[in-house]
Amino acid sequence: MTLRGRLTAAFLVVVLGPVLLGAVFVGATLSAVERTRSAERLGLAASTVRTSVDALCQRLRAAADAVALRADPAARASAAGQVVGRGLAVAVLVADAAGNPTYVTPGAPPTPWHDCAGGPTSGPVRALSARVDLRDPAGAALGSVATAQVVDAAFLGRLAAATGVAVTLLDGDADRVAFTTQVEGVRETVLAATGEQVTATPGGRYARRLDPSPGQPLPLVISVPGERSAGLPVGPLGAVLLAVVLAVLAAWRLGRVTTRPLVELAAAADRFARGDLTARVPVRSRDEIGRLAAAFNRMTRETASYVAALTSSRDQLRGHLAVLGDTLASTHDRQRILRVILHSAIAATGARAGAVLLPDSGDVLVGRCVEGLPVDEPLRVPVGTGLIGLVAATGQARRGRLDPASIPAGEPCCETYVAVPFAAPAADPAVGVLILYDRLGGAEFDDDDLATLRTFAGHAAVAVENVRVHEEAQRLSLTDPLTGLWNYRYLRESLRREVERANRFGRMLSILVLDLDRFKRVNDSYGHAAGDAVLAEFARRLRGEIREVDLAFRQGGEEFVLLLPETDARGAVIVAERLGAALRDAPIAVADELAIPVTVSIGIAVYPDHAGTGQQVLDAADEALYAAKAAGRDGYRVAGPRVSAPTEEIPVPAGPASPEDGLPRAGPGIRSTAEGTGRHVAGASRPASGVPRPATGGASSGPHPSRQSHGR
Ligand code: GH3
Ligand code: MG
Ligand code: MG
Repeated sequence: MTLRGRLTAAFLVVVLGPVLLGAVFVGATLSAVERTRSAERLGLAASTVRTSVDALCQRLRAAADAVALRADPAARASAAGQVVGRGLAVAVLVADAAGNPTYVTPGAPPTPWHDCAGGPTSGPVRALSARVDLRDPAGAALGSVATAQVVDAAFLGRLAAATGVAVTLLDGDADRVAFTTQVEGVRETVLAATGEQVTATPGGRYARRLDPSPGQPLPLVISVPGERSAGLPVGPLGAVLLAVVLAVLAAWRLGRVTTRPLVELAAAADRFARGDLTARVPVRSRDEIGRLAAAFNRMTRETASYVAALTSSRDQLRGHLAVLGDTLASTHDRQRILRVILHSAIAATGARAGAVLLPDSGDVLVGRCVEGLPVDEPLRVPVGTGLIGLVAATGQARRGRLDPASIPAGEPCCETYVAVPFAAPAADPAVGVLILYDRLGGAEFDDDDLATLRTFAGHAAVAVENVRVHEEAQRLSLTDPLTGLWNYRYLRESLRREVERANRFGRMLSILVLDLDRFKRVNDSYGHAAGDAVLAEFARRLRGEIREVDLAFRQGGEEFVLLLPETDARGAVIVAERLGAALRDAPIAVADELAIPVTVSIGIAVYPDHAGTGQQVLDAADEALYAAKAAGRDGYRVAGPRVSAPTEEIPVPAGPASPEDGLPRAGPGIRSTAEGTGRHVAGASRPASGVPRPATGGASSGPHPSRQSHGR
């Protein structure tokens, strides 16, 4: 059964129950009142009937007395005539002592007459009579005088008129009807009236019997119609019917009004359950159902906004995953990884700004990646002091709020902060610090933020450490372990890169090839270890004589290469002279009392003055080195002028070269710098090509190992 059906039924029960009960009560009350009133009417009618019949009998007796007073028969006949004439009786009968009639007034009803004194009746009563005995003065019975009154329909009509009820005369003992004033239903009235109690008849009447008694000798049934029988109580019945109709209508309406919002709510909930987050229900009232509808709408709205937030957070996660994927793809780009780490940490905690600080040389942390902070000057914090320095020193994460007066010097201004050590598990505790500032909304960073950030920083630091390890491995693969200089592999890469850069910016690039003189003798004289020490010291002095941007390589054996970006031949010559002097002037001490004098020969070539490709410039410098060796060593030579057209390997744009101001420029004007400036150079430089190499192991010029012999 639907809720609407139940509500309707409940309403009908609640409303119609009392109405129907009331109707039944009213009906029962009316019926009781009617019965009582009918009984009262019948009781009154019974007394009236008795009184009337008794009065009739008294009148008949008085008339008989009046006739009996006459002494002779003629007088009695005359008196009888007067009695009949005056209407006191309808007939007078005089009988002798034997009971035989001696005189009867004319028109008398047939005998036997029913005596008012009662007694058994046989047959129908047709006349009532009163009898008086005739006696002589001595008291002897002479006969009797009887007066009679006809009992017929008119007599009953008069009785009925006097009492106001229907009167029925029965035929003696039998329940047959002799006369009646009742119009219809006489038979069932007679059958229903079983005694002197009031009885309701099936025809809606109330009846009672009046059995013969002294003073009232007639067997009568009197009855009155029930008041309802005159017509149903239309008013109450109509009211009840109207109430029923109104109740049904009200119940239907109430059920509909009550269940309609619920039906709408159920339909909306159904749609919502199927995933339609736009499902809403109209709020029609402020009652409980209205509040329920409003709460449902609020719930769907909130759910929709949660779903939107989740969707956007999922999109963000996808974005982060994409960034993470990119980052993983560029695992060796430390700066990029730091940027992603910082960005992710800021996004995860809702911070305004942040920084990743890593240890620099000494006990100083430097901001390697900064977001949301002023970048006027790099963030530098000594380990052990201030907020960041303490986290780095102790390895303890910290969070809290700072008032502006207590912000440590050199650290950014902030209101709230959370700082965690940034170290891979295997590393020292004080590797670095990840710090975030000013949570958006003003609240402090909480313990969850701190725990999340600490875990995240641990993982992130592993990635950064991996980059460092990778960089170290790469550096080791590109450096020479004995001297710490770059190796031949890196020389080739650097040469290509520097030539390309010089080409792009129209700059010059000088290449110096250096070879220690008679180094075999050093080995032979002082041992291989001393030779190694000489090589290492030479490399150290080499580094000391060049700029930061210059690159020094150990090409192999005791042969080295310098790349001097943005340097023309003149600058290269200055460097060569300085290097030669640095070696020549200070023998290399390899033991307490052992200082080995060492000199170096240097060949110089300049891109693009002497060749059009990196390799060709290197070859030109090599050739110049041979020239320097050939010239007696401990000196330098500059490559001869370029003779061959540049190959197509690297196109060189047109432009002035080596202008008077000395600033290097790229350009077609290749000026020969073949004339050596080295102090110890003997003889002119040889052409850039075509000069035969001295024989290996030559005593004067010294053998120069072939490039292949360096085992690169
Ligand atoms: P020149 O002036 O003609 O260059 O004479 P040189 O003796 O230096 O030339 P040469 O090529 O004959 O000898 C190079 C020597 O350098 C041969 C080898 O013993 C030595 N050498 C090469 N690599 C190393 C090294 O790693 N350690 C040591 N101790 N000696 C090395
Ligand atoms: Mg040598
Ligand atoms: Mg050599």
